[in-house]
Amino acid sequence: MIKSLKTFDLKDKRVLMRVDFNVPIENDRVTDDFRIKAALPSIQYCLKAGANIVLMSHLGRPNGQIDPEMSLIPAGETLADLLEMPIKFSDDCISEDAHDVSLSLRGGEIHLLENLRFHSEETKNDTVFSTQLAKHGQVYINDAFGTAHRAHASNVGVTKHFSHKGMGFLVEKELQYLSEAMNKPDRPLTVILGGAKIDTKLNLITHVAGMADYILIGGGMAFTFLKAQGREVGNSLVDPSMLSTAKGIMARARGKSKLIFPTDFVCAESLDKSQQAEIYKVGDIPNHLMGLDIGPETISRYLEIILKSKTILWNGPMGVFEVDGFHKGTEKIAKRMADVTVNETLTIIGGGDLAAAVNKFGLMEKFSHVSTGGGASLELLSGKSLPAIYSLEL
Ligand code: AMP
Repeated sequence: MIKSLKTFDLKDKRVLMRVDFNVPIENDRVTDDFRIKAALPSIQYCLKAGANIVLMSHLGRPNGQIDPEMSLIPAGETLADLLEMPIKFSDDCISEDAHDVSLSLRGGEIHLLENLRFHSEETKNDTVFSTQLAKHGQVYINDAFGTAHRAHASNVGVTKHFSHKGMGFLVEKELQYLSEAMNKPDRPLTVILGGAKIDTKLNLITHVAGMADYILIGGGMAFTFLKAQGREVGNSLVDPSMLSTAKGIMARARGKSKLIFPTDFVCAESLDKSQQAEIYKVGDIPNHLMGLDIGPETISRYLEIILKSKTILWNGPMGVFEVDGFHKGTEKIAKRMADVTVNETLTIIGGGDLAAAVNKFGLMEKFSHVSTGGGASLELLSGKSLPAIYSLEL
């Protein structure tokens, strides 16, 4: 059993909370506060319940070195602005000073620790390091879904030191939505998969092939499947090492899931030639051009399927949405998904690039759920158990 945050008595307790403040920072300012906002419900609940909070997170990949560019200070400032209250900060997560600050918290204060990954022991799940971290709190809450697929000191090692441990509201929401979609979906269940390459999503595709009613493929990964069917794809992105895997996936889906591929693409010579982009049918793409977005015929076919689906799970953009001119496939799918959400279709957007895309289109709030964790949501949806979640079991 994993305890929910709402089952704890938190009055005057010190809650050590692992959050995911791995946010983009430019010129010492947070440029996208999506992940910080996602942690607010748990933080605010603890404050209301009379607890003091010690927050810990990683940011980027400093590889065990102190790197001021990856300091959590800007994240702390954003949090202070959002909560409209001051926040204490320690520049080393396990120093004596940091422990003293945690022990002296009173009357609903927050203490943010500096980037955990300034110590290489964090990613090594080092025992001494996790013991030091544990000293900060009396209750441990994990609300960092984005790192739940990694076994690190702050989300796995540390849990051994707590009899009072559980999950925050963000983790609870992620688990609820992602497992509901996979375990007992309202059908038709449609899985939309895009993005650059097959290999990072291999487990998910294999898991859903044969289980979903429709699988709509887009993005760069479509070309490896099309090539595996013997189609010509011009200069588009193909992963030759994945051709036989692609064939295996198509065989697995046969007769159970309708695996659907694009029939046309928006093509150009390169990413900076979006002004000269043209639509080509699959098989007709000239050798010097590459497909960089799904075409209008594909879009309208995919939109129809979305309309008749009851559960939709989407991971990976349909094209190079970052470049104007190659964004339309991703945008139109996102808009239709937002429309059907109003009609009680369960719509789930799986992390990373796609969350950035729907944010860019101003649609972030329009889906049933936007997952904060790219890798973690992929693993969970692929039927794997996440080490950081497993560690919370009592
Ligand atoms: P992933 O991390 O695998 O979800 O890939 C996301 C990336 O795939 C985005 O940055 C897109 O620009 C890229 N992408 C989408 N469609 C294509 C395409 N047709 N060719 C090349 N890259 C693509």
